[in-house]
Amino acid sequence: FDQRDGEIWYDGAFVPWAEAKLHVLSHGLHYASSVFEGERAYNARIFKSEEHTARLHESARVLGFEIPWTEAQINAAKEDVLERMKLSDAYVRPIAWRGSEMMGVSAQHNTIHLAIAAWEWPSYFAPEERLKGIRLDMAAYCRPDPRTAPFKSKAAGLYMICTLSKHEAERKGYADALMLDWRGQVAEATGANVFFVKDGKIHTPTPDCFLDGITRRTVIGLARDRGIEVIERVIMPDELEGFEQCFLTGTAAEVTPVSEIGPHRFQVGEICKTLMLDYDALVRQEPAGLKAAVA
Ligand code: PMP
Repeated sequence: FDQRDGEIWYDGAFVPWAEAKLHVLSHGLHYASSVFEGERAYNARIFKSEEHTARLHESARVLGFEIPWTEAQINAAKEDVLERMKLSDAYVRPIAWRGSEMMGVSAQHNTIHLAIAAWEWPSYFAPEERLKGIRLDMAAYCRPDPRTAPFKSKAAGLYMICTLSKHEAERKGYADALMLDWRGQVAEATGANVFFVKDGKIHTPTPDCFLDGITRRTVIGLARDRGIEVIERVIMPDELEGFEQCFLTGTAAEVTPVSEIGPHRFQVGEICKTLMLDYDALVRQEPAGLKAAVA
């Protein structure tokens, strides 16, 4: 992945893709003092760009550091990256980390770096599989107690158990894994939030120890716009048996139906299909101003 053509925005300047390097003694690498975003552009417009940038800033603050670029500067830089890379539909990855001046757990004064890369990434899960519904394993690791990890930060360190769980799932032939939390409640997948459908209503876990995804909030809004009731609550794994539909939401995953979780089976039903289409229509919508200008 590091030997592509193109350029990456790195601390305020564009550098060739293959030369966007950092020192091996970077604090971000050794002690996971790193936060990032995952965003998608559709028709050359980043969906909820400002919200992602606000979350990036907040993620850093939660880890005790300040990104030395304003939200407006970051928003503009992301646009520059898309333009420079001539990308219209793309995945955008901003990442901020503590640098290499001090080595040790403490690194109060290390320089904070920021890089932004973008590339084409059409589908997070295999497209054929995505339409049939993907198969999920049950993860062995649990989302930690909020007293153990600062879950409101999209911090690299929180992905250690996600990568372990996803690798184990893939090894067994699954696309992803469902993680429970430290109380044994249903939490989320390794890089996406989870929803269930029963009797025409949507049920989803309350995000009190995992990321309240931007896509999650968007899809809840789309469902409510259609008059579908959305219930955020505690969901225990023994309830999986009774749900009819299941889907994941995330910037990369968008709305992806789930057909299996361990021994449980789900249909790719109407509510799931409707929300897939509604989400697609929303993200591809031209801004109102642009439409008016064209008309
Ligand atoms: N949970 C985890 C662990 C994630 O990595 C993501 C993707 N950022 C999400 C949920 C969904 O968040 P969003 O909808 O903001 O992409």
